[in-house]
Amino acid sequence: MSIEATQYYVKHAIDMLDISESLAQSIERPFRVVKTDLTFELDNGQLANFTAFRVQHNNSLGPMKGGLRYHPTVDENEVHSLASLMTWKTSLLRLPFGGAKGGISCDPTSMSSAELERMTKTFTNKIKEIIGPYKDIPAPDVNTNAQIMAWVMSEYSKYSGFSPAVVTGKPIFLYGSEGREEATGRGVVIITERLLKLEKKSLENTRIVVQGFGNVGYNAARIFHEKKAKVIAISDVNSGVYSAKGLDIPALKNYYDQKRTLKGFPGGDPISTDQVLVTECDVLVPAALGDIFDRKMAEAVKCKYIVEGANAPTLPEGDEVFEKRGIKLIPDILANAGGVTVSYFEWVQNIQQFRWPLEQIHAQLESYMVDAFDRVVNTAQAKQCNFREAAFLIGIGRVIKASLTLGL
Ligand code: NAD
Repeated sequence: MSIEATQYYVKHAIDMLDISESLAQSIERPFRVVKTDLTFELDNGQLANFTAFRVQHNNSLGPMKGGLRYHPTVDENEVHSLASLMTWKTSLLRLPFGGAKGGISCDPTSMSSAELERMTKTFTNKIKEIIGPYKDIPAPDVNTNAQIMAWVMSEYSKYSGFSPAVVTGKPIFLYGSEGREEATGRGVVIITERLLKLEKKSLENTRIVVQGFGNVGYNAARIFHEKKAKVIAISDVNSGVYSAKGLDIPALKNYYDQKRTLKGFPGGDPISTDQVLVTECDVLVPAALGDIFDRKMAEAVKCKYIVEGANAPTLPEGDEVFEKRGIKLIPDILANAGGVTVSYFEWVQNIQQFRWPLEQIHAQLESYMVDAFDRVVNTAQAKQCNFREAAFLIGIGRVIKASLTLGL
């Protein structure tokens, strides 16, 4: 999503908060924007040049925190928008962090593991002075994972001493946290369950559709399946699969790991990625990229609820349509906050040089997510606004209060 679209939501909340124009500008603008060239050697001996970004948006509430995305569409505008969302998300969840985001404009699917390692370490080297456990802590996002976080930690530690707390989402044996990999998906399920409870419904036999079969989409689908909801359609970037009686998600994952595609899965019928989005269901979970719901797609979906697993899947024009159609939506800064919440637990464990068991992570995650959900629902009722407006109001309100109390 463009920064203009994110700022639309921010401006809307700021109008409701009635603050001065100059204060509004100071919280909208990023603290620091880094744009840097990455030149490194490919396996064939030629040099590659990519452009990388780290946008540090706001640090009023703590060191800045946000993922690292490797994708051809990454640009400064998108990274700025995602960094801004991180500021409001960490604030909403009451985590002791600000917001940041990074990205490299590249196609990682065409790169070898050795090339990815050289690119990641070149980038870390370029930003090593501005990241750190008490400055800015990257994490995984689209096309980045625990291995890539280990490379960031290794390169950073060369200059700063052994520093696992510089990144989260690391492999568990290298000071990662139990439960981090599935945390965003688990958070999506916790929030969906809570929303259904509010509507006097339950997860059992609820029909769910998921767009995306990566970290967030797969883990959400797996936990929905474990909790007896029916995941009736799911897609990755290339194709989709449908079953009215519910897909067997562990079997689908097994198949996907072997074939690297959803196509041909014997437990469902093939459908296109667009058909997945317009499949009739109770809950639709976008868990891929941004900008999915423009006006046309928002008119076309056939669901009662949307729970935004992805960051920024809905454009402001799509939001208007959902509002008119009475489709209730849980916004990204609440729905997908499970990842940064367990990242926070990982950071705490690294600083304490201590390990928490999985049961503790699950219980704490649930408690943080439910607390934020309840505050959003209460604010929406008190201010007569929708859940997105309420979430932004809380997130922005805390950042403003911190900025003013600390002194601008
Ligand atoms: P990922 O790279 O693990 O998976 C992305 C998935 O989306 C893949 O299955 C890919 O095939 C699919 N995809 C891409 N384009 C698609 C399309 N047009 N139609 C259908 N599927 C498509 O990434 P992820 O970590 O799962 O992130 C997904 C979204 O969740 C992103 O918006 C990310 O910013 C957000 N998010 C991730 C985390 C996290 O902890 N990983 C936390 C919060 C938010």
